[in-house]
Amino acid sequence: MKRLILLGSTGSIGDSTLKVVRALPDCFQVVGLAAGSDWKKLIQQAAEFGVRDVAVADGDSAAECGRHAPAGMNLRAGAGGIEALVRETEADCVVCAVVGLAGLRPVLAALQRGLDVALATKEVLVAAGPIVMDLSRRTGGRLLPVDSEHNAVFQCLAGAGIPPGAKADAQVRRIVLTASGGPFSSRREIDFDRVTVKEALAHPRWNMGRKVTIDSATLMNKGLEIMEAHWLFGVPLAKIEVLIHPESIVHSMVEFVDGSLLAQLSPPDMRFAIQYALTWPERRDGGLPSLDFTKIRLLHFEEPDMTRFPCLRLAREAATTGGSLPCVLNAANEVAVDQFLEGRIPFSGIARTVEQVMDAHEVIRAPDLEGLVAADAWARGQALLAMAQPV
Ligand code: NDP
Repeated sequence: MKRLILLGSTGSIGDSTLKVVRALPDCFQVVGLAAGSDWKKLIQQAAEFGVRDVAVADGDSAAECGRHAPAGMNLRAGAGGIEALVRETEADCVVCAVVGLAGLRPVLAALQRGLDVALATKEVLVAAGPIVMDLSRRTGGRLLPVDSEHNAVFQCLAGAGIPPGAKADAQVRRIVLTASGGPFSSRREIDFDRVTVKEALAHPRWNMGRKVTIDSATLMNKGLEIMEAHWLFGVPLAKIEVLIHPESIVHSMVEFVDGSLLAQLSPPDMRFAIQYALTWPERRDGGLPSLDFTKIRLLHFEEPDMTRFPCLRLAREAATTGGSLPCVLNAANEVAVDQFLEGRIPFSGIARTVEQVMDAHEVIRAPDLEGLVAADAWARGQALLAMAQPV
């Protein structure tokens, strides 16, 4: 029985994680739950899974939660409350499915304790890859990838006897990350100055939270994933490729030095990745469906168009430069996506904002945590300024 703390339980990955737990009740016990603001859903989840230790990040929502929480519920409030939940609750694994850099300090708190982290929140590794990986090595807390592409690579590497945390570089010729392409990659007629929020949120394959869905539409998501793969698997950026694969059946591939290539295939449903991250190194039957190849028939692969999707180019540039630049790219992107979702900037304004903020940044070579926090705050302010200027 693995004891889980689930951060971001009220979101899309949170929901899918709880489905996995429901399907495998003998394998998992949920001992902690954390949300941003949806305290009503959190209370329902806590009641269903018999969880006493919870946290709510937003102050007002936490206060409301406190007023309605059943007797005996141990509620922590604010961003510090989520860290406290991780530090104080007896557990074996922390599932991090909080959106954005808000996941960083809870992940560090979990690794500090030597706990395994099943990581969905890619922004954590993008912004602070060296700090997170170094802490993981020192404490023995392992990072188990939940992001479907990285989970696919993790499965391919496990098949070759390479455990999480080991540098795969010596045995890997290249990693091929697949991308659905989002709603726009196959629609060349689309004018990115006029795309509506509704159109951008209409992902053809995956049902996900709003931020990652917009990142998929700009292909920033794949740029973030290049950095995530670089840190997770210790493979140089030059060996990490991206291919558009609209069917979202092959979730990623690893070509080994001998030229053989392993791929992981499954229907596009995050429960496959979450379940493997949580049951690893074992496999369990959680009732997930089989692929029907007679229905799929064709699988397509093509190169991404870096001109139409400048976010992918910007993320590669940030990754290559390194230092504080990936953190700055991530922060500017979080703010710009938020502003697009609020209807304040056009879709094309996301890449423009990120590029302006990156151009204005003086890169810090090897920032410590405080340096990253400062760079993150600077970039958020700078992004808001950039968006306030007339185009
Ligand atoms: P959602 O928007 O659906 O959920 C986000 C979760 O984070 C919610 O529980 C939300 O709480 C919580 N949250 C928001 N802000 C804060 C905060 N400041 N502090 C603590 N908790 C907060 O996102 P997803 O589940 O789609 O994605 C979560 C992460 O997983 C992202 O990093 C994403 O890139 C990654 N990911 C997602 C995939 C997917 O299929 N959805 C696939 C691969 C990766 P509340 O709703 O209560 O405010």
